[in-house]
Amino acid sequence: MPKHNATLAEALDLDRRFVWHPFTQMHEWRDPAFDRIVIAGGKGAVLTDASGRRFLDGNSSIWTNLHGHRQPRIDAAIRRQLNRIAHCSFLGLTNDVAPLLAAKLVRALRAPRRNYQVFFSDDGATAIEAALKIAIQARHQRGELTRTRYLSIGGAYHGDTVGAMSLGNSPQFHRIFKKFTFTTTTVPGPHCYRCPHNRAASLRGVDQRDARRCEQECFDAVEKALSARSETTSAIFMEPRVQGAAGLWMHPPGFLRHVAKICQKHGIWLALDEVMTGFGRAGSLFACQLEGVQPDLMAVGKGITGGYLPLAATIVSGEIFDAFLGAPSEGKTFLHGHSYTGNPLACAAALASLELLQEKGVLASLKHKQKWLRGASRIFWRHPNVGDVRQQGMICGIELVKHPATREPFSSVDRTGANVCRAAQRHGLLTRPVGDVLVLMPPYCSSQSQIRAMANALFNGLCDVLPLNKS
Ligand SMILES: *Cc1c(COP(=O)(O)O)cnc(C)c1O
Repeated sequence: MPKHNATLAEALDLDRRFVWHPFTQMHEWRDPAFDRIVIAGGKGAVLTDASGRRFLDGNSSIWTNLHGHRQPRIDAAIRRQLNRIAHCSFLGLTNDVAPLLAAKLVRALRAPRRNYQVFFSDDGATAIEAALKIAIQARHQRGELTRTRYLSIGGAYHGDTVGAMSLGNSPQFHRIFKKFTFTTTTVPGPHCYRCPHNRAASLRGVDQRDARRCEQECFDAVEKALSARSETTSAIFMEPRVQGAAGLWMHPPGFLRHVAKICQKHGIWLALDEVMTGFGRAGSLFACQLEGVQPDLMAVGKGITGGYLPLAATIVSGEIFDAFLGAPSEGKTFLHGHSYTGNPLACAAALASLELLQEKGVLASLKHKQKWLRGASRIFWRHPNVGDVRQQGMICGIELVKHPATREPFSSVDRTGANVCRAAQRHGLLTRPVGDVLVLMPPYCSSQSQIRAMANALFNGLCDVLPLNKS
């Protein structure tokens, strides 16, 4: 029998010798004292490692999983598709799965007049990259040759490919590459907890978006930036409502609608990155729907397959799509794509996931699940080094600070957030922080007691690293 999975010892040995992990310091990872977890299985919100330890999946497997692991309907959909075909080309060919998904995605946006079209790819970054190239080429082909400028939001993260890095503002990830990227105009990311214009005292137990005292300077800043460049700007790229990798920055309600209105006034395209916020994560099917906004371009990824297979999509308005139509000899074709575009297995998983969300009541169930998360995460206010607990839908961020009264952060060399998450592993929780912002993003299948256990495990990890009685 050929071998398909290694024993625990083999996996650890071969991994140490041959594998390079993303976002991982391999020197630390290869240290024999480092507890490397080998995932061997999972069911629902629980992951199991090769030695039989069980962990709650506290960040939905890096923000991808929606319905839990081994979801019977998604499992069955992939198996059914596997009995037909796994993959074939999507270049000048189609299959009988991807069009169903495209139609479902467009209908889910509930904006028939926008005449949205779907371009498939395989990861969040590739969906952003496609959106960017589509915008560039569309402006060119529409003869709007002055519209060459792109706006981005402070702290934005759109992925790690070169175009996506150009649109992002993640110094810690992209510093070395910045001079190889193109320049964008950046407007401040609205982030009430750390906003220099917020004059409210640091109150405990409240959402900074509600407690803020300001003149909505962020609203004015984006308006000024867009109006000043109204003739030369092609598009603004932004994560709606929650900027994930910035540290779960949560925008005050109304900001997105405000941006959309200015864009519309000036003919600037609104390109939304719903890679993290999409598919219910921020509380509605898409975060833009929280504000009644219809983007011109939209990237989705991560949760699209329920967290099963790599798939992403760039959804484009008919107005932009039309700029690419013409005789082949006119050279208007979008000459861009990936080998696995429209992969039927991934599309089958995505269709099953959307069916669970929309037809089987999962989306509706999020109303009370996010209340469970709100209740469970109150525990963090008991800790003096918690400066902010913020939540949008099924996304909860807990920001650790040295001094809550002044919001002074810990030094990044202390790696406080990372240490807390490692400590939480010993209490049965897997999650990763963004700097010193702890992340809780439970799969939607989580029970109330699992959500409470996730918060408690993270809180216990926090108390291991920063003992309560000491401070
Ligand atoms: C994760 C993420 C991306 C990049 O997606 P990948 O699948 O990792 O390439 C882009 N934008 C946002 C908002 C994300 O959270």
